[in-house]
Amino acid sequence: MRNKEKHVLVIFPHPDDESFGASGTISKFRSEGIPVTYLCGTLGEMGRNMGSPVFANRETLYTFRKKELQEASRKLDINVELLGYRDKTLEFEPLEELASHLKARILAWGGTTIITHYPGYGVHPDHDALGRAVVKAVEMIEPEARPEIWMHAISNDTEDQLGKPDFIFDVTPYWDKKEAAIRSHLSQADGMMKLIETQDKDSEHVQRLKMERFYRWTFTT
Ligand SMILES: [Zn+2]
Repeated sequence: MRNKEKHVLVIFPHPDDESFGASGTISKFRSEGIPVTYLCGTLGEMGRNMGSPVFANRETLYTFRKKELQEASRKLDINVELLGYRDKTLEFEPLEELASHLKARILAWGGTTIITHYPGYGVHPDHDALGRAVVKAVEMIEPEARPEIWMHAISNDTEDQLGKPDFIFDVTPYWDKKEAAIRSHLSQADGMMKLIETQDKDSEHVQRLKMERFYRWTFTT
């Protein structure tokens, strides 16, 4: 592995997907000196949560979420690039156009490993649509130059359908960083933080956050 040239790209649609889904793994990469860049699809401006107590409204939510993402990325020591799509609309973007845009950004950053959502197992249409577009984007790159894709699957039937993940990281050593990153997303994270605080450290929910799992994508073309 040409470790010196490694660059991990995290490609998810919403500010906070990176913190909930992959911030332990991101912290592990950063501790190894590997650069990580988050290509964030939207600003999550259609999110249902407006803070608790409420501090945002439909018109102002994106400004808060943008700041929260900057705060989380500072804590995780990663770059952020905003891809500029609208929340809850990714499934309606033409796949070819979305994939071409992603391909250009993947090549521009020199991504060698990509973390995204497993299409069909993302439990949100934006997650599935962006994951699908990432696969398409990487398929557009000649096979010898393709980065690996690590898929984050969320739905409960994941292991029944796909078997055991290829990578299972116990991110307990990076838990402080993960918790701090989640906390940065103040408008969204309140429910989750309460859950973490009130639940037993060994509860299934907390354990799920502490074990980050990914499937390596197998290309068929
Ligand atoms: Zn999301």
